[in-house]
Amino acid sequence: LNMIIQEMFRSTGSKDVWFFRHCSMSVEGRSDPSMLRHLTSKITATGPITVAEYMREVLTNPVSGYYVKNDMLGADGDFITSPEISQIFGELIGVWCVSEWMAAGKPKALQLVELGPGRGSLTSDILRVFRQLQSALNGAAVSIHLVEVSPKLSQVQAECLTGERTQVCVSDKEAVYHTGTSHTGLPIAWYRRVEDIPKGFSIFLAHEFFDALPIHKFQRTDKGWREVMVDIDPEEPEKLRFVVFPAPTLASTTLIQADDKREHVEVCPEGGVIVQNLANRIVEDGGAALIADYGHDGTKMDTFRGFRGHKLHDVLLAPGTADLTADVDFSYLRRMAGGDVVCLGPITQRTFLKNMGIDTRLQVLLRNCHDASTRAQLIQSYDMLTNLEKMGQRFQFFSLLSRSRLAEPQEEGEGLKRRKKGRVPLPVAGFSELGLQ
Ligand code: SAH
Repeated sequence: LNMIIQEMFRSTGSKDVWFFRHCSMSVEGRSDPSMLRHLTSKITATGPITVAEYMREVLTNPVSGYYVKNDMLGADGDFITSPEISQIFGELIGVWCVSEWMAAGKPKALQLVELGPGRGSLTSDILRVFRQLQSALNGAAVSIHLVEVSPKLSQVQAECLTGERTQVCVSDKEAVYHTGTSHTGLPIAWYRRVEDIPKGFSIFLAHEFFDALPIHKFQRTDKGWREVMVDIDPEEPEKLRFVVFPAPTLASTTLIQADDKREHVEVCPEGGVIVQNLANRIVEDGGAALIADYGHDGTKMDTFRGFRGHKLHDVLLAPGTADLTADVDFSYLRRMAGGDVVCLGPITQRTFLKNMGIDTRLQVLLRNCHDASTRAQLIQSYDMLTNLEKMGQRFQFFSLLSRSRLAEPQEEGEGLKRRKKGRVPLPVAGFSELGLQ
């Protein structure tokens, strides 16, 4: 790891310039009565809907879902994410990918898979690192696989990553709905679901993806756990409200741990299924997953929130015009990943980025930058990412690794083997000071 970090940080010239991100789209005057109408007619027809169904409709309904219609990221959008704040973020994750690929014994093919790539900035920064570390990558066949539900955002990603070299598939039924070639000459394919990604050694990345997946909400009552649902307010038919469903639901009887001590619990079964899928792939084909999001380790209760124009927004108000999100429960993801993979973390973003060498990288960029305002911006974005009062603490890093990472590699050419006397944890980039769980 030291070697590849040094190789990347030593270089100077055009690769070490600071990239400005462009933001578009204004939230002024956005309103979407069609989504509210769609939800109220659904509730009128079939009764209150689960919070998961509400979230799914509002965010990813194929006609009017928030993610399907908007490019919501950036200063002019509803929220800003770490890859949009600083190129250093993606560069360090690029180094992490190369490091995990090396630790796996440098397989001949490497699939870089990103779930929910937003504007494509993270993958774009990673591809720059891959080009820079070409010699370390040793001629491996690298391919890029993006899982994106939003046709609008997939266009933004294609523009960012491929320029003109892109082709949209007409058929909705194809697993691959868009293909292209990156600026650095690598093949890129877009999918709607994780299940559609081809098999093979893969590094999976999910940044602010799991928090967008639908959650169920439950309330502890005298009669046991009851599910929180979304209903029409009887006083105001244009308004939605939460209700506690009087009888148990399928979700309330199956999704809660018997020993949970909390009064209120949120569970994201879709996130659990995706993590299981990633874990199975890592076991079968090798690879690793890095999940970064705001979250907790099974301790928080009511985290369901809306964001519009960088401000908190009532989750039930003007559905479809604001982002909806819930903190990721990493203890749930760990449970769903099962024992066949190793889970690391969650650790804070600050710890992860510091372990990955963010301070050195900042110094290299500052050394090559002579414009005072750009220097100030570099320092400000570094602070935003790492300061414990800002994104440094709230955002957490969590990883799934193959169990072969628990064993010391034996002699070259023999691959990774288990040691006779128990397994010895290997240092994992970014997490290296942690014990394995
Ligand atoms: N990773 C990016 C974007 C985060 S926003 C960043 O950090 O900047 C969430 C992303 O996940 C968007 O690209 C959104 O369209 C996508 N997304 C949300 N729900 C999804 C789903 N169910 N399946 C696939 N992609 C989804």
